[in-house]
Amino acid sequence: MITLALSKGRIFDETLPLLARAGIEVAEDPNTSRKLILATNQPDVRVVLVRATDVPTYVEYGGADLGVAGLDTLIEHTAQWGLGLTGGGLYRPLDLGIARCRVSVAVPEGFDYRAAVRQGSRLRVATKYTAIARDFFAEKGVHVDLIKLYGSMELAPLTGLADAIVDLVSTGNTLKANHLVEVERIMDISSRLVVNPAALKLKRERIRLLIDAMAAAISERECQA
Ligand code: AMP
Repeated sequence: MITLALSKGRIFDETLPLLARAGIEVAEDPNTSRKLILATNQPDVRVVLVRATDVPTYVEYGGADLGVAGLDTLIEHTAQWGLGLTGGGLYRPLDLGIARCRVSVAVPEGFDYRAAVRQGSRLRVATKYTAIARDFFAEKGVHVDLIKLYGSMELAPLTGLADAIVDLVSTGNTLKANHLVEVERIMDISSRLVVNPAALKLKRERIRLLIDAMAAAISERECQA
């Protein structure tokens, strides 16, 4: 049995066409079913639905053989857990090029971020992405107090909790709706396929076939673009 960990939403939706190229079709729609384990048309492949931040944990500890996780999630996972209890880490064979977005710094309209940085002010920054933010500001030599949040980062500067946020931005509509402006682009994000190294050894042929089919789907998509 091959177990693939996915999170609901963009990652699930955008992984489906790549799985289809490998002949795998998920039998149930996670939006209408409450099941957490979804069968596929292949008797030896199943999908487990987990929170996006739990995908690396499931794969690393063998709860799933493979998974799809955003680069942001993988960086934060590694910073928090290192190579984990197993020490084996995660094999990352493919950038799937899906769920693309960026991690950016945003501030309220009217806040002079450049001047604050120039003057060496200490900034309060709210974010879920503390490892990414810590590295970015350390490299720039900007002093920051990081405030860890788990969601609705946009609210922090509006309530006086923080001067700035570090968050995922896709279209920029969420920032605009909350009167925030993007002042730094930290990194581009896309989702990666991650594989448990022990599973890769034990189920090599089946997993290789899956990786190769997904890689073929990605290059076909890029040729069409
Ligand atoms: P947007 O308004 O299109 O810029 O989207 C920004 C909001 O969607 C933020 O709240 C982000 O946390 C979330 N978001 C955007 N892209 C992604 C992604 N690839 N994965 C997860 N969340 C995302």
